[in-house]
Amino acid sequence: MKRRTVLSLGALVAAPLPAPPGAPGPTAGRTRLLPGRYLDNQNRTAGRTRLLPGRYLDNQNRTAGRTRLLPSRYLDNMNRTVAYLRFVDLDRMLHMFRITAGLPSTAEPLGGWEAPTVQLRGHSTGHLLSGLAQAAYHLGEADLAARSAALVGALAACQAPNGYLSAFPETVFDDLEAGRNPWAPYYTIHKILAGMIDQHRLLGDATALAVARRIAGWVALRTSRLTREQMQAVLHVEFGGMNEALADLYELTGDPAHRELARAFDHDEILVPLSERRDTLAGRHANTDIAKIVGAAAQYRATGDPRYRRIATYFWDQVVRHHSYVIGGNSNAEFFGPPGQIVSQLGENTCENCNTYNMLKLTRRLYQLDPARTDYLDYYERALLNQMLGEQDPDSAHGFVTYYTGLSPSASRKGKDGLVADPGSYSSDYGNFSCDHGTGLETNTKFAEPIYDIAGDTLSVNLFIPSEVDVAGTTVRLTTRFPYDPVVRLAVAGTVRFTLRVRIPGWVRGPVLRVNGVPVAARPGSFAAVRRTWRRGDVVELRLPMTPRWLAAPDNPAVHALTYGPLVLAGRYGSNPPAVLPTAEPRSLRREPGAAEFSVLAGGTRVRMSPFLDVHHEHYNVYFALPPARRRPGVVAAYPLGDLRERTRRWPDAVLAAGAAPGARGIELDGAGAHVVLPPGLPANLTSLSVSVWVRLDSIANSARVFDLGFNPQSYMFLTPRTGNGTARFAMKLAGMAAEDFVDAAVALPVGVWTHVEVRVADTLRLLIDGELSGQNPAPKLNALLLGATQFNYLGRSQNPKHPYLHGAVAGFVLTGAAG
Ligand SMILES: [Zn+2]
Repeated sequence: MKRRTVLSLGALVAAPLPAPPGAPGPTAGRTRLLPGRYLDNQNRTAGRTRLLPGRYLDNQNRTAGRTRLLPSRYLDNMNRTVAYLRFVDLDRMLHMFRITAGLPSTAEPLGGWEAPTVQLRGHSTGHLLSGLAQAAYHLGEADLAARSAALVGALAACQAPNGYLSAFPETVFDDLEAGRNPWAPYYTIHKILAGMIDQHRLLGDATALAVARRIAGWVALRTSRLTREQMQAVLHVEFGGMNEALADLYELTGDPAHRELARAFDHDEILVPLSERRDTLAGRHANTDIAKIVGAAAQYRATGDPRYRRIATYFWDQVVRHHSYVIGGNSNAEFFGPPGQIVSQLGENTCENCNTYNMLKLTRRLYQLDPARTDYLDYYERALLNQMLGEQDPDSAHGFVTYYTGLSPSASRKGKDGLVADPGSYSSDYGNFSCDHGTGLETNTKFAEPIYDIAGDTLSVNLFIPSEVDVAGTTVRLTTRFPYDPVVRLAVAGTVRFTLRVRIPGWVRGPVLRVNGVPVAARPGSFAAVRRTWRRGDVVELRLPMTPRWLAAPDNPAVHALTYGPLVLAGRYGSNPPAVLPTAEPRSLRREPGAAEFSVLAGGTRVRMSPFLDVHHEHYNVYFALPPARRRPGVVAAYPLGDLRERTRRWPDAVLAAGAAPGARGIELDGAGAHVVLPPGLPANLTSLSVSVWVRLDSIANSARVFDLGFNPQSYMFLTPRTGNGTARFAMKLAGMAAEDFVDAAVALPVGVWTHVEVRVADTLRLLIDGELSGQNPAPKLNALLLGATQFNYLGRSQNPKHPYLHGAVAGFVLTGAAG
């Protein structure tokens, strides 16, 4: 618990905790006070007496607001991870730390990303520190606290000889500073530092704080020798949340040196554009940057500098609203795409789970800064339910997790063990240790942490997770099967006056909140607050009606995901994944036995739709095309291109770019960058279409484009005058498809003459040259509908910047289409 929270607790100090279900002892491992006068006194007077700052107050506040999970999916997940925390061999986790420190170790080396030759080694031991601290704190079980203390003590012994604590030698930092790009050494230091901070913050371990201070001292020594420019170069290599951990350390120590040291990790390349509200995320490694912004939010707390807050809130808005899939995750193959690209960025490697782990940390921090914003909590709930709960294999006794949550129609969460490179595979005991194995340990031990907040004499109920929390000398108990059941109940165990503040989600229609049967105002997207003297037996009941809703993707109005309250539903495909996104018939949607279970006709068969988090060990599909409104065939857009004007008056005019110029019959293109830009959205909501265009080649280059309508080099439809096969080709593809659909002409397009080309996209792909059928593909997998509202539409230019520009001229571009 952070210092500021401690000071604002007011009357809500702790009463002794009842034993959590299954706990071996009533208070074992949970507080540092031993039975005696102090403990008795604290317990008796809690809620009436204010302790002055010091060890006793620290201990007391660690107990106040502590939340215990009650039986639920969340507790099941946590228990599996805790079983791993109990199982994992600490000597093996310490092996390379001891070797690096010159201490003896005969333990068997670890595998995967912790292997003795892998530069990232040590990061998992940092996550283990955090996971153990969270588990020991929330479960209150003595053996977990003892394991925590043993691990902290052993790491302190590794740090003792020379103040350096790592599982790899310090020479890796020499490499980093010399620009030799080692694999993320500060990333690993961050995990260990954060783990030590968690050990102190949650369990009061003084050794952990001393180790953390000494890590900071080493970082200060290392970084103070660098100029600002040299440090910015160092920051090009992923460094996790060093700024976050150092700002957090400052809050524990009050030492301004720690606050200033956090600033040394301000990475201008990402922070400056964000501070100017510019989204430069496309093409950047997502998890590398998200961690830096979690740090910015921590630095705002530590410094009060509003620039950090501006950066963090703008980043959150952009990522959540413009870079996130419906399940709350982001990134395709670990990188951000351009804002708004979702269906055009589907793949088996979407949504690295670390990204969402970090986005949830950022969300938690921003919500605490602005506790009126329920949209932060709506996002937290959506990402937690639909991505993070489901990253863990429910059939794994040790809570193994996937690395990505893939969202292409061929994606699955497969049970293959140990191979990080294999998307959809799960981690393992000792052979994996990916970043997601590490963040998965933490994710599954901290479900209890964000459920409630206590400020002054107000208890906020943020999330509807079955749990108990101690407030104002009594216990509040939340019971529910939400989101499998719409009713959430809160009960208060004793007589005490406080304000209960309950989140009403933004997605709900017609919520009903009752206190002892009496309705209370509840508006979606706000908190409902009730201040009264609560008595034993009082019951608060919140009803959150849920209905199935199709949500459209931002880059394709025809593609939707099915939601039910906060849940995303996925089609279950067993071992037979669809080749492309199936088209669903919304009117065929019907309920099936079981909570939140549905089925729908999609791609001609009835498909079971289940909560995504429940779909494991089989193929699934989240995004579906919905049939658009029926539309008769007609010209959608027509550009004669002599004068650029769009003749149907429905679309903006074409734009000449990079030296394209009007000529006698069309637009002249120099083959060196000149091209024509057509407006975004042209082929949206069409189930069949045809494109016709005139082209005159002055010279021919493989892979140049007559036209290319698309989003990126993975999502497109194009016509090229010649491929490596020697003939003209029309092709189309949506990201996530294994291969493109194409049709080859019989010949390459001729040079030196005007040629008319027409492409017809329907059940069969047809390519016509000067009115003659030149090639066809009778069984394309993709259809026009799925390609959607293409964002980048060019004549003479490819989506792929490596391809040559067209050399010649284009004219008479006409797009014709129909729907239904
Ligand atoms: Zn990761």
